[in-house]
Amino acid sequence: MDVLEWIKKASDLAVNARNVELQGAVLEIKREVLQLKEQNLQLRERNAELERRKVQPVVYKQPSYFQAKEDGTEDGPFCQRCFDVDGKLVRTHDGEHYIAGPYRECKQCNTIVYTKEAAAKTDAYSGFRAPK
Ligand SMILES: [Zn+2]
Repeated sequence: MDVLEWIKKASDLAVNARNVELQGAVLEIKREVLQLKEQNLQLRERNAELERRKVQPVVYKQPSYFQAKEDGTEDGPFCQRCFDVDGKLVRTHDGEHYIAGPYRECKQCNTIVYTKEAAAKTDAYSGFRAPK
């Protein structure tokens, strides 16, 4: 039996017993129970929202961040600068320089990170940030 049904039963018994003090107590209990039910509903909704927003762990694998997915795979790579400075996961995009070779570029902050192969080819060039 639902708690409100029990309260209704208690209220009926208090009325039949003509006990006004008990009727008042049952009414207070009903008011408290309704408040608790409302709070419980709000907390359940908040909890569901937090579950939806739950952030998976972020792992740094130089030169980028990756995010673990629930199925065991990884999402990414994400821009190291954007995560470190702004706390945002921003995807990087593949690019290919005609001399330096492949790189990853962040369209948000314009950071370019060359791959190891590209860095090795252009070691003497000071403009490249090579991953270790
Ligand atoms: Zn960025």
